[in-house]
Amino acid sequence: MQRHFFLSCTIAALLPIAPVTTAEAQSVYPGLFSEKMKIQNQAECKSEAVPLSSVRLLPSRVRENMERDSAWMMSLDANRLVHSFQTTAGVWAGKEGGYMTVKKLGGWESLDCELRGHAVGHLMSALSLMYAATGEKCFKSKGDSIVAALKEVQEENGNGYLSAWPEGLIHRNMQGKGVWAPWYTLHKILAGLIDQYLYASNDDALTVATGMGDWAYNKLHALSDSTRRLMIRNEFGGFPEAMYNLYAITGNDEYKQVAKFFYHNDVIDPLKQRKEYFGTKHTNTFIPKVLAEARLYEISKDAGSRTASEFFYERMMKGHTFVTGCSSDKEHFLNPKDFTKHLSGYTGETCCTYNMLKLARHLFSWTADESFMEYYERALFNQILGQQDPQTGMVHYFQPMLSGAYKLYSTPENSFWCCVGSGFENHAKYGEMIYSRNTADKGIMVNLFIPSKLTLDGVSIRQETAFPNSSQTTIDVKAAKATTVYLRYPEWCKKASVKVNGKSVSVKQQPGSYIPVAVKGNAKIIADFPMSITAENANGDDSRVALLKGPIVLAGELGAVENPFSDPKKYNDYYTFDFQVPDGLPVSLDIDLKNPGKSLLPTANPMVFKTKTGVTVSPLYDIHHQRYVVYWQR
Ligand SMILES: [Zn+2]
Repeated sequence: MQRHFFLSCTIAALLPIAPVTTAEAQSVYPGLFSEKMKIQNQAECKSEAVPLSSVRLLPSRVRENMERDSAWMMSLDANRLVHSFQTTAGVWAGKEGGYMTVKKLGGWESLDCELRGHAVGHLMSALSLMYAATGEKCFKSKGDSIVAALKEVQEENGNGYLSAWPEGLIHRNMQGKGVWAPWYTLHKILAGLIDQYLYASNDDALTVATGMGDWAYNKLHALSDSTRRLMIRNEFGGFPEAMYNLYAITGNDEYKQVAKFFYHNDVIDPLKQRKEYFGTKHTNTFIPKVLAEARLYEISKDAGSRTASEFFYERMMKGHTFVTGCSSDKEHFLNPKDFTKHLSGYTGETCCTYNMLKLARHLFSWTADESFMEYYERALFNQILGQQDPQTGMVHYFQPMLSGAYKLYSTPENSFWCCVGSGFENHAKYGEMIYSRNTADKGIMVNLFIPSKLTLDGVSIRQETAFPNSSQTTIDVKAAKATTVYLRYPEWCKKASVKVNGKSVSVKQQPGSYIPVAVKGNAKIIADFPMSITAENANGDDSRVALLKGPIVLAGELGAVENPFSDPKKYNDYYTFDFQVPDGLPVSLDIDLKNPGKSLLPTANPMVFKTKTGVTVSPLYDIHHQRYVVYWQR
């Protein structure tokens, strides 16, 4: 389908390894952006994130996704993106590129959609992430022009309000009337502005964000508790998390009060008592409420918030997460007892995984527990990497677990689903967790095997690997003073081997930990983490089994399909789309659970196999325009 956007943009050829920028601040995770925070992190943390701007991706399958994402982002004209904001506020946009000539965007950004503006928020975040991750000025310029236009819109409104739809939608929410999700949309815009301030040092973005925060406080602080409870029944995304971040940046207590307004008692109170009460609630409405608790724990050390975050994560891992790291069926929680019944065409909303990765990142900060990186790696490679169609750069919404279903991709300008919005960010921030720092000694933790360069505080690391096609990674370290490099020893590897400057080192650690390597001056570390084929059943049901090599989910290819969304009449039908799975597809496999590798025959490619009946089995992230099977019928 549409491939023209590559031609309209020179960015696909960009992403040279630009020099790392200065001590640019970084995020709202422990260890980052502290110079921009009035309220510092209070929680005790065993690991700290490293600035995205200190990491550069080297050529790889992962970086190719980032390049395609950047090309798509840059192909979207800023005038078209802000047009609905200007139109709603009555800002004169008749100047060059304004509404006299602007071509309207479609899908969830169209002028009659109550979520319009959300993708603009995600794009502000993604542009700032892409700028930090590459140092390329074009991403900053585009972000700057969007922020400038939104500032003008906010000034026209005069009360701090900023949205692409009228304030009446908020009033409908306050009256408990039907409306899609106004605070959800405002969250994306607020978070985008905060990211523009933090990652791209746009001071105007902070001014606009505080304007929004003041407006929210004025709107909400005098409301009764019954109105509050009525309002928060509606999906509000990460609005409280963003308000906690705005509070941390400014120290203005009113922003914390706004965040607390969105405390959802019915959802969070049971988690604090370690009670699972998910029912069939909407998964991606739920997870951001927990993220707000995680952030509250960090700025206040509130023990209940930590319990809620950790308990939620624990329950998600037990019975709510598919083998690829995704969750939800038709966007809702499922009953773990009926797990197999939920292997549908509408599993794995990608926004849920985007948010679970954020939660895993918080929990890893607090504990430095390797298990969070097991999840992170699995979800990153098996869902996020495979979310994007390598032919077109478009992304999927759901990741179907239904045998014989296939991935459905967005269009460049007529989808703008939520998962398109979070997708812009997903593929801009692969560099965020490859490395982190051990808080105690500031040693560098190597968490993920992705070709990349890290330059941070006198230490430089260059990691080269063909992972997962190779189990080996080579890490060149240059350290001005003595430092420790901590190599992740994945749970999925039975026996690691490590060489430093050509000499074998005895590995005393067990899988599921970190191997410390002391380095002074230059060192070449070669680590080998052999992978084997393992089987994972569908939450205890041995009749449905998925196969993995190391952390990589292998799926059976069941025949090529056209992408139906190339037909503009069908492009939003992802939610009820009929996959018309033909009878007789080879979805069953004789798997010996004690030795699952026996069911697959090797090929010349170490990640591609054949079944005895001739079905090609390969990494799910590389299966596109194909029917596939993840959970085989045994
Ligand atoms: Zn989504």
